[in-house]
Amino acid sequence: MKQHKNINGWLGLIVVASLVGLILHQAVLVRPVGFQKSTVDSPKKFKIVSSLSVYGEMAQAVVGKYGEVVNIVGPHNGDPHDFEPTLQTAKTYAQADLMISNGGGYDEWAYNLSAAHAKTPQIEVSRLVNYQEGDNEHFWYRPQIAQVVTAALVQQLSRQDGQHQAYYQRRAQNYLATLAPLQQIRDDIKPQLEGKMILTTEPVYDNAFYGWSVHIGDQKFAQAVEAGNDPSPQAIEQWHRALKKRQVSLVVENTQTTNRITQQAVKKAHQAGVPVVAVTEAQPAGKNYYQWQMDILQSIKTGLEA
Ligand SMILES: [Zn+2]
Repeated sequence: MKQHKNINGWLGLIVVASLVGLILHQAVLVRPVGFQKSTVDSPKKFKIVSSLSVYGEMAQAVVGKYGEVVNIVGPHNGDPHDFEPTLQTAKTYAQADLMISNGGGYDEWAYNLSAAHAKTPQIEVSRLVNYQEGDNEHFWYRPQIAQVVTAALVQQLSRQDGQHQAYYQRRAQNYLATLAPLQQIRDDIKPQLEGKMILTTEPVYDNAFYGWSVHIGDQKFAQAVEAGNDPSPQAIEQWHRALKKRQVSLVVENTQTTNRITQQAVKKAHQAGVPVVAVTEAQPAGKNYYQWQMDILQSIKTGLEA
């Protein structure tokens, strides 16, 4: 069952509390070995924990040699919706100097673990983008998200380590410069999609069209898939009808969540000659943020031009 839960209630807190309790218990039994105080020769490194690898990459880009980032969910462990924190996850949070979470109910476990260490500085991306209940919370697909997140990182790291502010600023600028081609390709695609209709198998990529006048067609299909349910016959019928009427310019398929019904829906799109772009919920293995986003945008551009 995969769902964006906004209220996890007491259960999450109890799980976190017992995980934290276990750590404290272990800390008494096992004395840390090889613990070193920071010296001039080996300056203290920030320990940053990021719930999602996409924000972890941005954090590492900004913090550079002054920090180490641990990503909890990334290419190695599947769908972020299904992630369950372990004792090791709780330990990582307990040791962190800075925590980054997506927020908006997406990574509720990260929210709970962060809340258990309320004194540790935190960056919650949902706050940076002024998330409102009901907004799509796959924030990393928003066009300007790297600018927003790196700015928050520079600000927060400088607050904790003012000495290296210029270093963090420079690193953020350099990182953003490497992403500039993403904006160029978006500018190429935008006029081809404005005023057009898109269908999605799941509302994962919708934020990529944030601020554009793109119409995302009947969403009951996508919402059902996201909730882990089969789309209703009516939702499937709507999908087919829109394709048959040639109203659809692009279909977005989340290849990380497919089933017989989504495959059938995508097949209908192919038959109707509508370009289909594959997207994923989590960062794919072997691709950094830039490559991940660029490959998707490139395939949209190619599809629209075909
Ligand atoms: Zn999702």
